[in-house]
Amino acid sequence: MNYQIALIPGDGIGPEVVGPATEVLDLIGDKYGHVFNYAELLAGGKAVDMAGEPLPKETLETAKQCDAVLMGAVGGPKWDTGPGNMRPEAALLGLRGGLGVFANLRPAVLLPQLRAACPLKDEVLAAGNAGGRSGFDLLIVRELTGGAYFGKKGRTEDGKAAYDTEYYSWLEIERVLRSGYTAAAVRRKKVCVVDKANVLESSRLWREVTEVVSKDYPDIETSFMYADNAAMQLIRAPGQFDVIVTSNIFGDILSDEASVLTGSIGMLPSASLGAVNQNGDKSATQGYPTGLYEPIHGSAPDIAGKDTANPLAAILSAAMLLRYSFGLEKEALAIEAAVNKVLDEGCRTPDIASRNAGDAASERIVGTRAMAGAVLKALEGCLD
Ligand code: NAD
Repeated sequence: MNYQIALIPGDGIGPEVVGPATEVLDLIGDKYGHVFNYAELLAGGKAVDMAGEPLPKETLETAKQCDAVLMGAVGGPKWDTGPGNMRPEAALLGLRGGLGVFANLRPAVLLPQLRAACPLKDEVLAAGNAGGRSGFDLLIVRELTGGAYFGKKGRTEDGKAAYDTEYYSWLEIERVLRSGYTAAAVRRKKVCVVDKANVLESSRLWREVTEVVSKDYPDIETSFMYADNAAMQLIRAPGQFDVIVTSNIFGDILSDEASVLTGSIGMLPSASLGAVNQNGDKSATQGYPTGLYEPIHGSAPDIAGKDTANPLAAILSAAMLLRYSFGLEKEALAIEAAVNKVLDEGCRTPDIASRNAGDAASERIVGTRAMAGAVLKALEGCLD
């Protein structure tokens, strides 16, 4: 089958990690008989330089026509001083809003091979776990097109005061909650809604909506937690969480925190989904809103061009794309197995290298290209 993928490499390490992700997709295509066509599009800082705006109209229009969007990252110090609407990050918000992808799925799993790169002690990793499990396997479902990032914002006339509005409608809350419950149904059946209902009126509405929506999912356990406590619990007993559903701003912050626990932000993929294709029906994808897939990290200007960026988050984002937008579960699993294999073999980019000499002895530190090559080689093996 033919699939059209909008490709937005972006800035900094974006192109360095998106390249390997497309090589992996191409190999999958060759082996399983799919054709992935790419439409490379401009967004972010590069678009400011070349088209005079962070999100050219044709980028959004073309992206909407495609079956899915795969993105690297945008931004960098070169564009940091421009006005809000000319900053690369405006492209992110424009794409998310324009594609209507309101549910951002951010899985955070501690792979056993990366135990040494996780800063938590064994007893912390064991805490909160049932059934002898160790480590954690959680999913943050972040609301992506509302809240403070999209609410009314501005400055007073003298520029000496500013505001951003945390605004949520019932509908916005309900649909992302349903995404969370749908995801939890095929996991460990626990949803924790993270908010600040002790101080924020919008959070109190989140709780009201949850009380209603949760009745449709009687076999799923629902709990609530304040965001400050959640930040603490993530580093005290991350194993207690299954699915966390939360607002745009809390999800942004908590998923970065969770990424450190997995070893590195360079490991975490994400899928941003719209109205229909997160209903659990993986076979039916045609005609659904376009999903957006990207690593959760930024453009990492500090390491751009040095061949040290970890490409695994982008490669795992490509796996999520196959799973959620195209319903290609077997192919997605093959990519995940290949990533596991290279980690088993001790392949490490510097960000996931062990800090202690004992574990480091069995590791081979590689650059972006070599890590990508190892995944491709492992994928050949996984496909046999
Ligand atoms: P960042 O995620 O780019 O970097 C944070 C730290 O993590 C840095 O030390 C970086 O070297 C490291 N890191 C990130 N990705 C890595 C990878 N794949 N492998 C190894 N190390 C990695 O966050 P930041 O420094 O806060 O932001 C840099 C720029 O990226 C800013 O302009 C910011 O606005 C932008 N940004 C973009 C996105 C996006 O496009 N979705 C997300 C976050 C930040």
